[in-house]
Amino acid sequence: MADQFKNFIGGEWVAPSTGNYFENRNPAKQSDLIGLFPRSGREDVDRAVAAAKKGFAEWRLTPAPARGDVLRKVGDLLTARKDEIAKAATREMGKTLQETRGDLQEGIDTAYYAGVEGRRLFGKTVPSELRNKWAMSVRRPIGVTGLITPFNFPLAIPTWKMFPALVCGNSVIIKPAEDTPHTVALLVEILEEAGIPAGVVNLVHGLGEEVGAAIVEHPEIPVISFTGSTETGSHIGQVCGRMHKRLSLEMGGKNAQIVMPDADLDLAIDGVLWGAFGTTGQRCTATSRLLLHTDIHDEFVERLIERAKKLKLGYGLEKDVDVGPLIHEASRTKVEEYFEIGKQEATLVLGGERATGEGLDDGFFVQPTIFVDVKPGSRLATEEIFGPVLSVIRFNDLDEAIRINNEVKYGLSSSVYTRDAVASFRAFQDLDNGITYVNAPTIGAEAHLPFGGVKQTGNGHREGGWEVYEFYSETKVCYLDYSGKLQRAQIDN
Ligand code: NAD
Repeated sequence: MADQFKNFIGGEWVAPSTGNYFENRNPAKQSDLIGLFPRSGREDVDRAVAAAKKGFAEWRLTPAPARGDVLRKVGDLLTARKDEIAKAATREMGKTLQETRGDLQEGIDTAYYAGVEGRRLFGKTVPSELRNKWAMSVRRPIGVTGLITPFNFPLAIPTWKMFPALVCGNSVIIKPAEDTPHTVALLVEILEEAGIPAGVVNLVHGLGEEVGAAIVEHPEIPVISFTGSTETGSHIGQVCGRMHKRLSLEMGGKNAQIVMPDADLDLAIDGVLWGAFGTTGQRCTATSRLLLHTDIHDEFVERLIERAKKLKLGYGLEKDVDVGPLIHEASRTKVEEYFEIGKQEATLVLGGERATGEGLDDGFFVQPTIFVDVKPGSRLATEEIFGPVLSVIRFNDLDEAIRINNEVKYGLSSSVYTRDAVASFRAFQDLDNGITYVNAPTIGAEAHLPFGGVKQTGNGHREGGWEVYEFYSETKVCYLDYSGKLQRAQIDN
């Protein structure tokens, strides 16, 4: 009998009002049923909102340093259970244990960073233009926040949203991706253990178009933070625009690694292998385009293929596995469609097929794939594939590489391998991305640095850094006039 999981509403683990459940299976071994999770409905979201409003009324009055103390305890508990939680994440998401441990470490860093932020939540005292008058700005919590998260970073992304929202004094309703509900349930269990008061954190499992939509459309949730595909985010943006909600969108990417002729080629090959095929290419920051200077193009491709051939596919908890499965059948079908598109548009030099064989037939595995002679502007070069598919594009000089990097609709991350300081600074200045790396792959984030993209990757907000604390709080200006008279500027205004 499979484990049956519950929602967490108002400090209690409760069954969904619908009585319905969906299956969560291991993408590397479909015969491994992880559990049955609530397929909740609007009534469950209504209950969560009622609980979150009550939770907010108390939590907003809890001093920010005390809110931060809870999060620092969460950091300690996550650290103590790191291996167990990372293994659960690999089982339901598919990436290797090394990667899920890294995913969780970002969550731990975020817990400690947000914890300390509770002692710093910045306001400002500024001089008033009038005598005997104080002016200051303070940051205030907003209310109930609705957080909707994707499958690919089931540990880091929920923490990027929950912990800053909480330390700012808001309450939370989180709906995890239906492919990775177990990991988020474990995070919520830990928040409960750390002593988060009833109603302050609520977890409602379910499908995007049911529970996700109910959260987005709920009139008493003024803040929505979403990470996922540009398609879903665009829809959410329209609803939130109509309802005047505060909205953070983090969406798709089509990231490029540029290799200049003076680069350390071994380092650049390590970078692209990890960037393109790690997490089976299912990162928003995945290296999906490799831009090679014509002088090193042929040698680089040859050496890259040799290395990529050796990548070991399999279940992420098994020893020496480099690349896990895709998340589900629909995702494999989509990647296989791009194999066919690529075979029409470019030249296939590695992979391009479903991966079969011992340990692979019960999961959604595809071969790491490389196309060369990819034309800028083609579908392969511009559309997000979200799988282990690398498109190689040749260029003649840095200007051309910058132009190619910038001609896609996304703008998350980019990277340049070079030993030239001038090329590095030109990359920082001219590549249209939220993040540019020099001599490092297109991936990676740190809790205290703002993470996010430009163009159709995002809507201007950021996760992490101090920027995220601005998103989850309102600025209020407060004046105290102790002059005892109506001052001139007040009359003029
Ligand atoms: P997705 O858009 O399918 O789903 C994301 C979440 O939205 C899930 O929880 C889903 O249930 C929910 N959802 C779906 N339809 C909804 C609706 N109508 N209303 C409300 N919620 C709805 O994305 P995914 O497949 O889980 O994740 C992959 C995508 O996420 C990729 O495009 C990737 O680039 C992007 N991503 C972006 C970042 C970033 O920071 N920019 C980070 C990670 C992933």
